[in-house]
Amino acid sequence: MVEAEPVRADIGVIGGSGFYSFLEDVTEVIVETPFGSPSDSLFVGELAGRKVAFVPRHGRHHTVPPNRINYRANLWALRSLGVRQVLAPCAVGGLHPELGPGTLVVPDQLVDRTKSRVQTFFDGEPLPDGRLANVVHTTFADPYCPTGRAVAVAVARGHGWGRVMDGGTMVVIEGPRFSTRAESRWHAAQGWSVVGMTGHPEAVLARELELCYTSMALVTDLDAGAETGDGVNHGDVMRVFAENVGRLREVLFAAVTALPENDGRSCLCSGVHEGWDLGIELP
Ligand SMILES: [Zn+2]
Repeated sequence: MVEAEPVRADIGVIGGSGFYSFLEDVTEVIVETPFGSPSDSLFVGELAGRKVAFVPRHGRHHTVPPNRINYRANLWALRSLGVRQVLAPCAVGGLHPELGPGTLVVPDQLVDRTKSRVQTFFDGEPLPDGRLANVVHTTFADPYCPTGRAVAVAVARGHGWGRVMDGGTMVVIEGPRFSTRAESRWHAAQGWSVVGMTGHPEAVLARELELCYTSMALVTDLDAGAETGDGVNHGDVMRVFAENVGRLREVLFAAVTALPENDGRSCLCSGVHEGWDLGIELP
């Protein structure tokens, strides 16, 4: 069912149909933003009394590659429905042999190695709708919500997920190609943990919108430098993700119900712009 009326949600999940398709009474909501259209409609359902809005990051038919996702529209659309906390499952490659397929990493740091993506709402240009946001430099030393991270780690361990890494650094590459062996070895040598293609600018755009953002990174492969075979390929990634989507969904839903109420947030995320004039109202 497609709704034109305002539908509200508390918590956002950026992830595909494997996470929401079996929920009862899912409402499809078409949201337009000043930055264009999100990757797809948003799908709003209820989970233990919490309203959850899902946005399929790559579109419902997986047609949008990481480098062409309208990250600004996805985050803006979630916030405009009322979302203040975001859980972001994603597939990543492990950069060290001990971070093999099936490991769940809840990173606490990221490194941006993307090249072509707009990564701010505050770039000194008028919004497409004519409003002008001020130039704002957002605190990003700790890119993830500490509360959301603690919840994600606790529920994953509580569900008996064998390998959960609390912390670690996700390096985000431009994609859609995978890394060369040299790039992969270099990433590993820096001490970084996992490599992905979507974690940035998602995290910083969430922070700019004062959203709590928590990455839940499922390792689907050992990246090119960490193995001796042919290197990672798309089929392996999809297969391992599919094998784990059921338990990832369980953990994700448990995390949704364990997050604090939106107006009870005490983390840095909600007040990151306190005292600053943004020039625009956030949605
Ligand atoms: Zn937070």
